[in-house]
Amino acid sequence: MSERVVILGAGFGGLELATVLSEKLGEEAGVTLLEAGESFVFGYSKLDVLFGRREPHEVRVPYAGFAKPGVRLLRESVTTIDPEALRVTTDRAVHEADVLVIALGADYDLDATPGVAEAGEFYSVAGAERMRDVLPTFTRGHAVVGVCGAPFKCPPAPSEAALLLHDYLSDRGVRDACQISVVLPFGTPVPPSPDTSEALLAAFAACGIEFVGSSPVAAVDVEQGTVSLADGRELPYDLFLGVPRHRAPRVVLESPLAEGGYVPVDSRTLGTRFPNVYAVGDVATLGVPKAGVFSERAARVVADAIVARRLGGEPPEPFDGRGSCFVEFGSGRVGRVDVDFLSGPKPVGTLAGPSPELAAEKVDFGASRRARWFGC
Ligand SMILES: Cc1cc2nc3c(=O)[nH]c(=O)nc-3n(C[C@H](O)[C@H](O)[C@H](O)COP(=O)(O)OP(=O)(O)OC[C@H]3O[C@@H](n4cnc5c(N)ncnc54)[C@H](O)[C@@H]3O)c2cc1C
Repeated sequence: MSERVVILGAGFGGLELATVLSEKLGEEAGVTLLEAGESFVFGYSKLDVLFGRREPHEVRVPYAGFAKPGVRLLRESVTTIDPEALRVTTDRAVHEADVLVIALGADYDLDATPGVAEAGEFYSVAGAERMRDVLPTFTRGHAVVGVCGAPFKCPPAPSEAALLLHDYLSDRGVRDACQISVVLPFGTPVPPSPDTSEALLAAFAACGIEFVGSSPVAAVDVEQGTVSLADGRELPYDLFLGVPRHRAPRVVLESPLAEGGYVPVDSRTLGTRFPNVYAVGDVATLGVPKAGVFSERAARVVADAIVARRLGGEPPEPFDGRGSCFVEFGSGRVGRVDVDFLSGPKPVGTLAGPSPELAAEKVDFGASRRARWFGC
């Protein structure tokens, strides 16, 4: 019998891992991919939903379309993980594994920041849809895009939201009656890439957006209309677009895998402290930001290790923490940050663009993943 590989979560990491194993091992891949949701959504699509560029049903890619030799995708919700016994329980079955890969992403902890659930967030499809319906009612006053804590997915996304909000309000002819502030826990918008931070700060200045750095949002008082920052500052607001605090999914936190809120791994191999148990992507403490490109790249390293073990051959190259992230600057212009987190003594990130050409490259990025994973 071939080795049983059980992958938890069919997001960026899980889909890429299952796809590579299917490509390299075919019908012998022996992969079971467990996923609670009905459809996959690219993270950046939430900005499209928020600003009414696409409907929620247009950004959902149903898992029903995922079919790969040697991979069974089962729509089951994982309820317990036993990394010592390599056993996973779901709402429907018990799965025994020879290799277990945790790719369950990060969840939002709305209750961790008072007032955020009522005031609004745009990091989930449902939250973005709700705020999309609120945006047309905002015609004057102070909009605050606020991050409630680090780490959070896709560090440039709140800056993108502020710049796209500027476009949205300008198109509606109400920009002059509105202020926009973006609150980040970091001192600069994208600390590992000074180029990108500088370009974003210049774009903020050109659009009249205030950057409020170095402190997360600690609470939102919906009655009083105030946003309190952890360092004591307070901002009045009329529209709040929040990024909730993140944490690993509860099933992970309740397992022996979690330490400090996520799953620690050897950042070169993605191995956990349990033999034959790996963790990739947002659920892991990897030494890189939480972004799909890093989940995907980590998944390839794990896939190569499984294939090398099965077929023999060279051990895989270690995870290098390299990736390219696209950043919307508004007015149809997109930049690309090429970052390298782990190869050198400190992270390095350089910015290409922004330009309309890179906007087309971003479209290709999503389309190529969709075609590769779902064949559509
Ligand atoms: C606004 C926004 C913009 C973004 N822009 C970008 C971008 O431009 N580029 C980029 O690279 N990244 C971007 N991201 C980040 C990106 O979406 C995530 O980092 C990426 O999806 C993480 O991949 P993952 O595989 O680790 O986890 P996910 O893709 O989150 O996958 C985890 C999967 O596990 C499933 N799951 C969770 N719990 C269970 C359970 N108990 N049982 C079964 N299944 C479960 C979930 O349903 C999910 O499908 C953005 C995110 C946001 C919010």
